[in-house]
Amino acid sequence: MGLSDDLDVFVSDAMRGLAMSDDECRLLNTPFREVSFEVPLRRDDGSLHVFRGYRVQHDRARGPFKGGMRFHPGVDLDHFRAFATLMTYKTALVDVPFGGAKGGVACDPTSLSAAELERLVKGVTQRLDPIIGPDDDIPAPDMGTGPQEMAWMMDAYSDAHGYSPSVVTGKPLVLGGCPGRASATGTGVAVATERACAHIGLDLDGATVAIQGFGNVGAHAALQLRARGARIVAVSDVDDARRSAGGLDLDDVARAVREDPEGDPPTVAEAFGDAEPFDIGDLLTQDVDIVVPAAIGGVIDGDVGAALRCRLVVEGANNPTTPEGHAAMRDAGITAVPDILANAGGVTVSYFEWAGNRGGRPWSAAQVDEELEAVMVRAFDATADRAGEDGTDLRTAAFRIAVDRVRHAQALRGV
Ligand code: NAD
Repeated sequence: MGLSDDLDVFVSDAMRGLAMSDDECRLLNTPFREVSFEVPLRRDDGSLHVFRGYRVQHDRARGPFKGGMRFHPGVDLDHFRAFATLMTYKTALVDVPFGGAKGGVACDPTSLSAAELERLVKGVTQRLDPIIGPDDDIPAPDMGTGPQEMAWMMDAYSDAHGYSPSVVTGKPLVLGGCPGRASATGTGVAVATERACAHIGLDLDGATVAIQGFGNVGAHAALQLRARGARIVAVSDVDDARRSAGGLDLDDVARAVREDPEGDPPTVAEAFGDAEPFDIGDLLTQDVDIVVPAAIGGVIDGDVGAALRCRLVVEGANNPTTPEGHAAMRDAGITAVPDILANAGGVTVSYFEWAGNRGGRPWSAAQVDEELEAVMVRAFDATADRAGEDGTDLRTAAFRIAVDRVRHAQALRGV
């Protein structure tokens, strides 16, 4: 099964639980708009390359479309369809007034010069111009894009429409970005973990944690979990896995992130070269209290789900769990905080950035921290309450709340 199929299982299950009519299901299951376009790029050597770009806008009943721009060779329309849908339910669950979208370009950005990348991003923005805008669809960084790409998108859009910082989020701070955006998803993962520990009676202070993926989400989650008393005992990235029963030393990572908050954190080999190496494939099944998948999708399937030895899984990555993995964890009594809840900190702070740009008054770091924590706590508690009322797990409860909110907004607006 693909990404879309896996997500369909969770969404359909929520729709059944809500006893939705066929018409309601059809409306929610059909994306509002799917765009596929060519992006010609004149390379530095004079040759012409034509890339394929996409944007899927899933639903806007609760507010403008919102979602990242991914630059990666492996993307296609089906990929963005699934991620756009996930965004609709993520924004609904944390109750920020956005819908869901996702897009990007099938390319390897690391093979392009900075000048080529700038031309490509500005070309993409021109193609998307009729369908994006501060009140219509607000792109953000995703895999292969970051603050610089958002600055180029804002510049190209502003050329045509006048100064428009709120057309994208995840901008550099000097161009209206929001303090704490880079760490927001990792911070949200830590807040969700803290809440989930209280929910299942696990003391986070001294709890052991294994984290798969040590990029933006994984590294910031590690630092924020350590700040809450947890012991990070195993981490991995695409090249390396390291562990230490006494807890990995995160001081170098903390220093690197402090010195360059918007930069990439050190790799696992750079940060933990002295710790014991182990097989990357064994990260998720370490004997720890908490596992945080924060890398790629589909990693907890039926087999891995049955082999897990933790009490709690907190999904920093998007779509890390297949329906079979979900069932295996449920059968084993493992609590899973689903992606649409656990990793919603990023889009929440994107909302603060957009709101600050529109109000002409940026949010302070202290305001961002306080409000992010409040949003995540509210969303977790609502999900846990619903799970208790319905006698179900957190994922099923989260999708029921989210689908219900979007359905309700659609019904009020009419077709
Ligand atoms: P990133 O590119 O900064 O980091 C990804 C990390 O995963 C890297 O350390 C990479 O080496 C590692 N990795 C890749 N393949 C791996 C594998 N097979 N095994 C172990 N590690 C592997 O990306 P990110 O922004 O941290 O995003 C991570 C995940 O979180 C993605 O699923 C993304 O969609 C999701 N997410 C990110 C955000 C955000 O704000 N950055 C928000 C919501 C969801």
